[in-house]
Amino acid sequence: MTARIIDGKAIAAELRGKVADAAHRLARDRGIVPGLAVVLLGSHSASEVYVGSKTKMVISIGMRSFDHRLPETTSEAELLALIGRLNTDPVVHGILVQLPLPAHIDAQKVLAAIDPGKDVDGFHPVNAGRLSAGLPALAPCTPLGCIMLAKTVHASLAGLEAVVIGRSNIVGKPLTQLLLAEDATVTIAHSKTTDLAAVCGRGDLVFAAAGRPEMVRKDWIKPGATVIDVGINRLAGEDGKTRIVGDVAFAEVSEVAGAITPVPGGVGPMTIACLLANTVRAASVLAGLPAPDFGGRRTEDGGRNG
Ligand code: NAP
Repeated sequence: MTARIIDGKAIAAELRGKVADAAHRLARDRGIVPGLAVVLLGSHSASEVYVGSKTKMVISIGMRSFDHRLPETTSEAELLALIGRLNTDPVVHGILVQLPLPAHIDAQKVLAAIDPGKDVDGFHPVNAGRLSAGLPALAPCTPLGCIMLAKTVHASLAGLEAVVIGRSNIVGKPLTQLLLAEDATVTIAHSKTTDLAAVCGRGDLVFAAAGRPEMVRKDWIKPGATVIDVGINRLAGEDGKTRIVGDVAFAEVSEVAGAITPVPGGVGPMTIACLLANTVRAASVLAGLPAPDFGGRRTEDGGRNG
């Protein structure tokens, strides 16, 4: 068997189109232009590239972008004061603080200071709690993207065995909650899991989010399974150039899987598209409107309703 390649770039472009339409309708019918504020401290080159591409995408689909690039030496109090202003600014509907933050700043304190209704990254404890309680919430973007990609292969995830490798608050745990909401049967694996290969072998769906280059091998995968690779690992090639690989040994796993995401070009583009979607959801809910349905979770609503 040769796996079908799940084209994350094309699926993300389609999602951005739907988000652009929803943003256009909000502006036309309600005079609301969804606005995303991105806060970046210091000069972390990967973060700068990421923030730059977010800004371009936001503007390209007719939304507003507010970039706050602050020096590395910004104090926690100054950052919290900025978040306080963004929380009450009516033209800002989504707030994203780019991680990692410098060591002198308590990231949890900063994330908890964001209005949960504007928490488009879905990292606020209120949104994490609402998601695990099965209540409407702004859910983290990467797991939302993973669900959307899986649903391009399976019309329904109900009853499927899903294995999630990784239990971070950013990917593994929220992904598990979203899969439960889809009625999948979920196993969450981590670094202390014994016989990870056998655990993976049960999966009709395998989501790899461990940050371990090409860890998932061909003989771990049930023939025909859908494999979603979240990992982004930079490896130095023999030519001295850096190459990016996922957590899945793509070439060999493609020989047994039914469908697989490439890295790059799989989950990555979906993350930014889902951020745009969350900003439009937040803008809608903050205005007292129902959140538009872009797929990706069963209860489509921002953090305030429900
Ligand atoms: P993280 O916070 O480092 O968490 C990694 C998780 O994987 C932990 O739960 C860890 O277990 C588990 N793990 C590590 N080694 C393992 C092993 N050998 N076997 C089984 N489990 C193992 O990482 P993260 O933030 O979730 O990110 C995971 C990967 O996804 C990274 O490569 C990251 O770059 C990528 N990522 C991609 C996107 C995107 O947009 N595509 C977004 C976010 C992250 P313990 O809990 O026991 O330590």
